[in-house]
Amino acid sequence: MTDLHPKRLIGKVVVVTGAARGQGAAEAEALTREGARVIATDVAESPACRRLDVTSERGWAELAAELREAYGQVNGLVNNAGVTWRARIDDVRPEDMARVYAVNVTGPLLGIQHLAPLMSPGSSIVNVGSSAALTAHYPVAYTTAKWALRGLSATAAMELGPRGIRVNTIHPGFIETEMTASAAPAFREANLAGTPLGRTGTVDDITPLVTFLLSDDAAFITGAEIPVDGGLTAHGGAKPISDAVGH
Ligand code: NAD
Repeated sequence: MTDLHPKRLIGKVVVVTGAARGQGAAEAEALTREGARVIATDVAESPACRRLDVTSERGWAELAAELREAYGQVNGLVNNAGVTWRARIDDVRPEDMARVYAVNVTGPLLGIQHLAPLMSPGSSIVNVGSSAALTAHYPVAYTTAKWALRGLSATAAMELGPRGIRVNTIHPGFIETEMTASAAPAFREANLAGTPLGRTGTVDDITPLVTFLLSDDAAFITGAEIPVDGGLTAHGGAKPISDAVGH
């Protein structure tokens, strides 16, 4: 069958971090389908990925040098790699904070620092935040790191705008991946109860937005934050009240 859908990312070189599984793997596949030359990376060994620990400055420098040599440019970066740590305020330790920040905040910063010099006007960076970045989600290391990522995204959008580089943030809600599979069943149920659309999300709910933000269709969109969460964060905590009062 002929594919009548025009490919939106032809000629673009795009790096995706944390692409061995979950959302990152789905993003790498979707971007490839749209014609991008995707460099899928992950700290985990995977036949589909080049190895990159996002916390390693040297790792980023080596990747940047390789991309400069191979393509002379980079047009997109998806800062998707992330880790959670489900300790609450009473239990979280400084080393937990440092570890989670290294991956979820410093990782994206290093990616931007090393790849932005290879980016020409029209390039696009997508940072993967979380509904935790919009709320008082209990795992405090994860939540504060994702809030910090919002600050990084805003600053990067301002700083890189004059160079024609866009920076946007997506905020997934509960998405079915290995990350959420390791959460308590009660966590899943509570998310469902708080989600107006009444279901959890899948990686296929995420990929169309990432594709759009990397494409020239989003040419005037930068510094934006877009939840993909079935309405979880939009009601600001009012849903349990609405549900309790009934009709
Ligand atoms: P996942 O745990 O299935 O996948 C994360 C990937 O990141 C893994 O392949 C892992 O090896 C990789 N990774 C971890 N540390 C790394 C490092 N130092 N360097 C490079 N790669 C590293 O999780 P996912 O659900 O696919 O999450 C993707 C992103 O979406 C994360 O940033 C996560 O915080 C965010 N997110 C997920 C959900 C959800 O419900 N699943 C919700 C909101 C936000």
